[in-house]
Amino acid sequence: MGYIHRCKAGIDVPEHAQVVRTMSAELSRMLSHLLFTATDALDVNGGFTSHDARSDDNHDARPDDNHDETGNRQVPAGGGKRLCMEFTATVEGVTEVGPETVAVTVSAPAAFDARPGQFVRLTATVDGEDVSRFYTVSSPDTDETFETTVGLGGGDEDGPDFSAYLADLDAGSELAVTGPFGDQFYEGEQRALVLAGGAGVGPAVAIAERALADGNEAAVVYRDDAPAHTERLDALRDRGASVVVTDGAIGALVADAATGDPGEQAFVYGFADFVAEAEGALEAAGLDADDAKIENFG
Ligand SMILES: Cc1cc2nc3c(=O)[nH]c(=O)nc-3n(C[C@H](O)[C@H](O)[C@H](O)COP(=O)(O)OP(=O)(O)OC[C@H]3O[C@@H](n4cnc5c(N)ncnc54)[C@H](O)[C@@H]3O)c2cc1C
Repeated sequence: MGYIHRCKAGIDVPEHAQVVRTMSAELSRMLSHLLFTATDALDVNGGFTSHDARSDDNHDARPDDNHDETGNRQVPAGGGKRLCMEFTATVEGVTEVGPETVAVTVSAPAAFDARPGQFVRLTATVDGEDVSRFYTVSSPDTDETFETTVGLGGGDEDGPDFSAYLADLDAGSELAVTGPFGDQFYEGEQRALVLAGGAGVGPAVAIAERALADGNEAAVVYRDDAPAHTERLDALRDRGASVVVTDGAIGALVADAATGDPGEQAFVYGFADFVAEAEGALEAAGLDADDAKIENFG
């Protein structure tokens, strides 16, 4: 503005003053861009919102790469543009998908975008107490609805049995949902090698379905003494995926399923004992377990 006034006043502005003016204008422009980029990143990632995904009890102290030293789960969703949301979902249906296993399908708002392998926190009032648990997305997408697969019967004798509560829900019931969380999800890798134990079969079928739909390859090694999602596993086999189910050791099966090709990504989903076995099986098969995407259910 000062420069314009001087022009109007017919003052001859020296060249060095023009250079200083241009530098100052450019610095101001760069600062504006940097401020925009920083605030936009915070908005996109929900950096100002308190998305502490810590559960109310057994999950707090879980030794997990996704927790910081305070026990808080790190938030959220890798890949940048998936907003961590809190919303009330309507239960569309609860279906038995195997012995001691149900699939819970709930409504999803249009902005909700979770990838197979990510997880949500479900909260409800059970026996007068607000209870939250994490569940991994087991549908290949989250358009209008999404599904989680819930294993029953593994919990403590004492305290609220949240999985049993979910299994008894009727269509039309409501659940509070927060998420998505986690960065151990399918990102379009050429070949998904998924090792699943128990309820880990949920993300396994979701990732394999998504991989095939994207024109990629999928292999599933699933350990369970009472397998669930057998229809979806059969359909995956029919579509060309490699699927093996066992109630025993997975080492040899993982070695057979692993190709070691550069485009192959290993995934592991299940409770701690299975995760430990799967990591050993990956190493024995010549893969680096540190490169695997692993979600430990606790
Ligand atoms: C990131 C993450 C993702 C998860 N995803 C799923 C999922 O997709 N499906 C699912 O069913 N659960 C999942 N869980 C576990 C879930 O949050 C609950 O812990 C589980 O449903 C048991 O809750 P509950 O109230 O019925 O039993 P609780 O009384 O809370 O269970 C008590 C203890 O039993 C352990 N436990 C419960 N079930 C089993 C089991 N089958 N095998 C071994 N230990 C068990 C729990 O870890 C806990 O230590 C996930 C957990 C985390 C942290």
